[in-house]
Amino acid sequence: MASHSHAHKEHSGTGLIEAARDSLIASGEQWTGMREAVFAELAKHERPVSAYDIADNLSRARGKRVAPNSIYRILDLFVANNLALRVESANAFLANTHPGCQHDCIFMVCDECGEATHIDDDQTSRRIRDLAAGCGFSARRPVIELRGLCKACKG
Ligand SMILES: [Zn+2]
Ligand SMILES: [Zn+2]
Ligand SMILES: [Zn+2]
Repeated sequence: MASHSHAHKEHSGTGLIEAARDSLIASGEQWTGMREAVFAELAKHERPVSAYDIADNLSRARGKRVAPNSIYRILDLFVANNLALRVESANAFLANTHPGCQHDCIFMVCDECGEATHIDDDQTSRRIRDLAAGCGFSARRPVIELRGLCKACKG
C-alpha cells in the first residue's frame, strides 16, 4: 500500500538481498559475510524479529555462538542506512523492502499475531514533520505506529 510520486521500487527474495547490498556499498559501507548473513536471516521473516532471535538462529546455523550485541550493532547500521526498519512498539526489526528509497514508514502492528505491515505516505509524514517544525522541533526519525488487529485476526 503506498502513495508515490517517484519511481518506488519494492524488492523481495534474492533481489532484496542484492538491493540491500548495493545500497549499503553505495553508502560507503562494507558488505561483509556476517552482514549478509544477518540481512538474509532478517529477510526470511515476515514479522518483526528481535536481535536475540536472529542471534539464536545464526548461532544454530553456524554451529557457534553469535553474540546478540554484534547483531545489534549490525542492525543499527542497517537502520541508519535504510536497509532495515525498527518497529519500536515491538522492539524488533524488519528488512526494508525499499532500501533504495527513503520514507517515514507508517506501521500497523497486530496485537494478536504480531504481523507488521506498512504504508509509505509521504504527505502524512511530511505533515507531521511540519507540525513538529512549527514547534521548533527538528524531527530526525518520526516513529508512526498503529497497534490493533490485522484483517485476518479481526475475522
Ligand atoms: Zn519510495
Ligand atoms: Zn516504507
Ligand atoms: Zn493479526
